[in-house]
Amino acid sequence: MKKLHNLIAFIGLLSVLLLAGCGKSIASQDVLQHAKQTNTIVWGVKADTRLFGLMNTKSGKIEGFDIDMAKAITKQILGPKGKAELVQVTSDTRVPMIKGGNIDAIIATMTITPDRQKVLNFTQSYFAAGQSLLVKKGSRIHSVKDLKKGDKVIGVQGSTSVDNIQKAAPQATVLQLSDYAQAFTALKSGQGVAVTTDNGILYGMSEQDPNYVVVGGTFTKEPYGIALNKGQTNMTNAMNKAINALRKNGTYEKLINKWFGDIPGFDIKEVE
Ligand code: GLU
Repeated sequence: MKKLHNLIAFIGLLSVLLLAGCGKSIASQDVLQHAKQTNTIVWGVKADTRLFGLMNTKSGKIEGFDIDMAKAITKQILGPKGKAELVQVTSDTRVPMIKGGNIDAIIATMTITPDRQKVLNFTQSYFAAGQSLLVKKGSRIHSVKDLKKGDKVIGVQGSTSVDNIQKAAPQATVLQLSDYAQAFTALKSGQGVAVTTDNGILYGMSEQDPNYVVVGGTFTKEPYGIALNKGQTNMTNAMNKAINALRKNGTYEKLINKWFGDIPGFDIKEVE
């Protein structure tokens, strides 16, 4: 009987150790190693942001500069047969998605900030954006200075833009919506006097409807990086190397020209 007890205790202990072992391997899994095993990198991308990541309703595919960069980086790291799996994120869901292990990396108009660097790894900057305003043509607002008390400015939850505008124009109120498609619709229906976010994103909206224009230049610096979970040093290094290679072999410049070359008012020399 005593032997049986010992055996049960031993099996119990063994399963606890095995479970602990599994938990550890998932939490500390090296995403580069895993990507090589599966021949796939799982990317968190926007699907609401024209020029960077937008769902094409006809083809059912997400398209944009961030998407092309994700595909090119995947091939640099895994070879020509490497697969880029795209998972939709918004400004608000991208960090919880990477923390929950749903995605390997975020390439989604994401600014490298000291606060975010506390919980995430970032690659080098691959796009230098800056915050601006989008208004209806003929609006009395030509820059942040024209925002008065009671003016409602539309922004997106989880973006740096909502904090920045509160500092740049504390007299204005901010209406926070959950994605950029909703933000632009809200501006068109008169729920606010402006949408505020990065210039590149706003130029995408203005390209879609030229009755809306980007005004006042930029009032912040928003360098975009690819975000990875804290401690994923191998994949961060691999992605930095891949970005350098794409800059060197001309792919990066080709993609910048493809997406931003024809945008009136947008200076592509400033973004690289
Ligand atoms: N680049 C800013 C950010 O990372 C605004 C764009 C966005 O919402 O993704 O928050």
